[in-house]
Amino acid sequence: MAGILDALGYEELVVPNFRTDTEEYKYVLLNSDVFIINSCSVRQKSEDKVYGLGKPIKEILTERNKKPFIILAGCVTGSAKSERPRVTLKELQGKTEWADAYLSPSEIFRLPEVLSKKNLLKQTLPKTEGKIAYINISYGCDNFCTYCVVPYSRGKEVSRSEKDILAEINALVGKDVEEITLCGQNVNSWGLSQAEKFKIRVGSKQKLPFADLLRKIHKISGIKKINFISSNPFDFTEDLIDVLKLPKIANYIHIAVQSGNNEILKAMNRRHTAEEFISLVKKIRKARPEIEIGTDIIVGFPNETKKQFMDTVKLVKKVKFNVAFLAMYSPRKGTVAQKNLKDNVTREEKKRRLAYITKIVKGAKVNE
Ligand code: SF4
Repeated sequence: MAGILDALGYEELVVPNFRTDTEEYKYVLLNSDVFIINSCSVRQKSEDKVYGLGKPIKEILTERNKKPFIILAGCVTGSAKSERPRVTLKELQGKTEWADAYLSPSEIFRLPEVLSKKNLLKQTLPKTEGKIAYINISYGCDNFCTYCVVPYSRGKEVSRSEKDILAEINALVGKDVEEITLCGQNVNSWGLSQAEKFKIRVGSKQKLPFADLLRKIHKISGIKKINFISSNPFDFTEDLIDVLKLPKIANYIHIAVQSGNNEILKAMNRRHTAEEFISLVKKIRKARPEIEIGTDIIVGFPNETKKQFMDTVKLVKKVKFNVAFLAMYSPRKGTVAQKNLKDNVTREEKKRRLAYITKIVKGAKVNE
C-alpha cells in the first residue's frame, strides 16, 4: 500500500518511534491526509488494539476540523468481508466508527479507486514501481490449522490465473522490476483443487502447478530473482524441491514447522510429522546446500507438556534454522483450538518456554 501511495504521488509522514500510545500518534492524526491502519487479526491482542484506536482518535480530532481519511485495511477487515466472518462488516463498522473506508488484503489494488472517489488523488499517472515487487498468486487458506484465524479472516483459498500472474510480471519487468516475491498463505497449493491438495503427503513426487509456474517465471529474462512465501511442509513435493536448484530462485525459503512433537502437530491439524519435516529439510539442503531456511514455532499450545516442548527444542537443534519466528500460543475466537481445547499452559510457563527456545534458536547455551 505504501508503494501504491508513493506511485500516486503521496509523501510518507516520517514519524520515528511511532506508537499509538504516544504524542506521535496525535501528530500523525493532525498532520496526515490519508491514514491507513493495516490491521492484523492473527492474535486477539492485535485485533483489540484496532478497536482501542477509536478513543484517542475522537479526543485528538476535536482539535482539528479536517480529519485524515482513515482506511481500515488488513485482516480485521478481511475477516469481516470474508465468507466466514467472525465479526460482520456491520459489527466492525459499529466498533470503528472513525474509519472512512474498509479494504481487505485482497482489495489493496482498489486503493487508488477509493482515494479517487474522495477526490484524494494527487496525480493519476503511477510512477515506476521500483525494482522489487510483491505479487499475490493466491488468497485465503483452506488448511484450518486449529489455532489459526486466516481461513476465517481471508476466506477460501483462491488461486489467480497463470495468465494474470504472468501478465502482471511482464508488465512489472517493463517498469524495471527485477526481483519478485510471490505471496500466498500457502503458495505450494497454487492451482490445485481442495481434493487434489489434500491428497498430497510430504515427500511425494507429485507434480505441482506452482513448480511449473516458477519454471515459467524463471524464463522471463528481465526477472533476476524470485522469492516465494509461505510454503507448508505437507505439500512441499519433490517437484518443488527440484525447482530450488534454478539459479534465480532466492536463497531463502520459509517453511513453518510450528512444533517438533507429533501429538501437538496432530492437535494443530498440521498434516506433517516432525520426522517428515526433518527429512524434507534434508532433501532441500541436498538440492541446494547453501539455502537459508526460516520457520514459525508456537510454544504453549493447549496440553503441551514440558516433554513435548523439548521435542520442539530437539527439532530446532537438529534443523538449525537461519531464522525462526517464535510465538506463545494465544486462543483466537472462532478457531477449533479455542472452541475445543483449554488454554491450559500458564502464561509464565509459555514465557519460560519462549525464552528457552529463543536462546536455542540463537545458538546460545542453556541449562537443561
Ligand atoms: S496454513 Fe497457515 S494460514 Fe492456513 S490455516 Fe495453517 S497457519 Fe493458518
